[in-house]
Amino acid sequence: MAFGSRAFQKDENNNESNVQEIAKIRHQKANLLGYASHADLILEERMAEKPSKVYQLLDELLEHALPVAKIEMKEIQELSDRMNGPSPIERWDFSYYSEKLKNEKFAINDEILKPYFQLEKVIDGAFITAEKLYGITFEKVDDIQKYHEDVITYAVKDKNGKHLSVFYADFFPRAGKRDGAWMTSFSGQNKYDGLDTRPLVSIVCNFTKPTDTKPSLLTFGEVTTLFHEFGHALHGIMANGHYESLSGTSVYWDFVELPSQLMENWCYEKECLDLFARHYETDEIIPIDLVQKIKDSANFLSGYQTVRQVGLGRLDMSWHNLTSIPTNSVYEFEENAINGTELFPPAEETTTSCAFSHIFQGGYSAGYYSYKWAEVLEADTFELFQETGIYNQATASNFLENILSRGGSEHPMELYKKFRGKEPSTKALLIKTGLIEA
Ligand SMILES: [Zn+2]
Repeated sequence: MAFGSRAFQKDENNNESNVQEIAKIRHQKANLLGYASHADLILEERMAEKPSKVYQLLDELLEHALPVAKIEMKEIQELSDRMNGPSPIERWDFSYYSEKLKNEKFAINDEILKPYFQLEKVIDGAFITAEKLYGITFEKVDDIQKYHEDVITYAVKDKNGKHLSVFYADFFPRAGKRDGAWMTSFSGQNKYDGLDTRPLVSIVCNFTKPTDTKPSLLTFGEVTTLFHEFGHALHGIMANGHYESLSGTSVYWDFVELPSQLMENWCYEKECLDLFARHYETDEIIPIDLVQKIKDSANFLSGYQTVRQVGLGRLDMSWHNLTSIPTNSVYEFEENAINGTELFPPAEETTTSCAFSHIFQGGYSAGYYSYKWAEVLEADTFELFQETGIYNQATASNFLENILSRGGSEHPMELYKKFRGKEPSTKALLIKTGLIEA
């Protein structure tokens, strides 16, 4: 209740009027610039292009996720009834009981998996995957200047041995280093005066540092993080554009996560795991039943999670696709916006909007949908890899030539259609997340 009522209490930190004022001013600004709404203004430079496309995505996902979410909620309710006797699950009960249910259904946790994910081997797995897909190689080099001794530098070459990029990997926490994981380019790719200037690409993570007696062992979440950031890095490394401002990862916001989220898929494939997921003491390859458990548990509560993301996406669009300035309270406005996505009894002391910093303070206004949009693209893309083989050369070259190397040189929908022969559909994601049958 305390968390849900942040910036929505009767004190000087209440955000209701700020939220309303921001939405109003954004709407007026869009009108002055000739757009019907803030969402129309923002989406002009997005792959989705217009609000109707965003609503179509959210509606399609909700249609399939809601029935599954209701079954999941029932299961959690039953567990709670068994443990404590009948009483309705409130939003503040959910995390506790869902964690219990997860442990009951999947006897799997980080400690069981970590011995199979030694950092050096995982990096090698990412490199081998890139080599098998695109023919590129990574060679560790020691003669390149770097900003800290922990940073590892690699020379990246194409299949003909031609220099592609310098790749910097900065994996361990230290005092003063920011949390989280990200990819960045110290210098981009461009072609000028007949010269192809190659990029300097870096990924930064915060994995547990090895000790004298134990190597750095990653959780499965960290393995997918490494592959994710490596996917962004490949977008930079394989760039083959003309203008730096349209090269590499300089693409529309709702397109930039395709290469990164796509790479995560290989972490769930036995064919890929066999290349690198070996026990750090016994060298045993990760057992197939563990791989299956990883896959099964990945879809735990996917109905609930999808409904939640759709609710937040709708709320964002409601605030930014206004037809007139709202006159009702923030609570009422929100109730209308998320109608049909609520899975808990109402709690009138709380709102999402008053603390929805993504859209009111960060850069995600009329953009929250892009999390799901990127998942749709990534699943639709990986479906082709699954159909043809996850290391299929023709599919990999097709992806490289039409998407990975092209940056923002064409509208992403055009690039995507050249790659896939069609617009992306939600079907592959719905199957992948277990919301519909294949
Ligand atoms: Zn990312």
